[in-house]
Amino acid sequence: MRFPLHIATDMMKWQLVNWWRGADRVPIVLMLEPLHTCNLACVGCSPERYSGDLKNRVPLAQCFEAIDACGAPVVSICGGEPTVYPEIVELVEGVIARKKHAIMCTNAILLERFYKKARPHKRLTVNVHLDGMRETHDRVVDRPGTFDRAIEMIVEGKRRGFAVQTNTTVYRETSLEELDAMCALLTELDVDGILVSPGYHYEAIEGDEHFLYRDEIHQKFRYVLELAERYPKISSTPLFLQFAAGQRDYPCTPWGNPTFTPNGWKGPCYLIGDKYYGSWSEFFAGVDWNYWESRRDPRCHNCKMHSGFEPSVVRKLGDSFGDVVTMTRWQLANVRGASRAA
Ligand code: SF4
Repeated sequence: MRFPLHIATDMMKWQLVNWWRGADRVPIVLMLEPLHTCNLACVGCSPERYSGDLKNRVPLAQCFEAIDACGAPVVSICGGEPTVYPEIVELVEGVIARKKHAIMCTNAILLERFYKKARPHKRLTVNVHLDGMRETHDRVVDRPGTFDRAIEMIVEGKRRGFAVQTNTTVYRETSLEELDAMCALLTELDVDGILVSPGYHYEAIEGDEHFLYRDEIHQKFRYVLELAERYPKISSTPLFLQFAAGQRDYPCTPWGNPTFTPNGWKGPCYLIGDKYYGSWSEFFAGVDWNYWESRRDPRCHNCKMHSGFEPSVVRKLGDSFGDVVTMTRWQLANVRGASRAA
């Protein structure tokens, strides 16, 4: 993900401190799911993530314990739908008070309520879920009007001074033309980033007609790579997009984006919950990281999830001088773009 300079700097500092301490596995982004309650039931989502009872949400104090135990400089608040979490503003404020960066992922239906209570801050990014243009998005989330609401809330968020980015999962029915049209629209709306990730075929999700097999991902993401040249707002890293397009390979880095849920720490990764752990130390010591990094498990076969492989981009960056140059150019292009806009 293309991060603003202050976030990239914090992430670099965190990596250096841990390198100095001799840690070889360092979490970068905490995926915090404070609730498994949602006001939608999208095709790409498992029922575990949207059908939970609100009373089973993670208490605020326990969210903070998880954030402190993990230590990652970025906290992605997902779920469930975070705007349904009654203490969402306090949670975001607590992340900011810890000098970390909060990314609040939302379907935008209740976002206006959040905007009225929260304050814009350089450590807060609102991340709106947008899976294509109107017809595809409304079909994927199974509710007409959701695309229009998302666009309305992107505009409103920008008007109020929030940093607003979007998150798109590419499904089988997502056409290349509509990805182009969506990037053009979001660029016109001056969003602060467009994150694009493949919806991959995975046995745990029923109704696999929407999900992509490895070759289909490669084909779609070769086009996304071209789009990234034309639309600098696309914030997935060029090395991740090359991986998604089948032009390079990486081991997985499931510990880079660990997931905390109402059931505890989820192992091994954001997608697969083979076992839940009560504490950070049990989780980190209990998962067989060597096995999951190797992608030997059949459920990893088609996976190109950004939560598993964007951290691999960071982990493997030092292996190639050419990759360092590519990433530095990409990050600097963002800085130059930001200063031109200022
Ligand atoms: S390859 Fe995908 S499914 Fe397998 S551990 Fe990594 S993120 Fe999880």
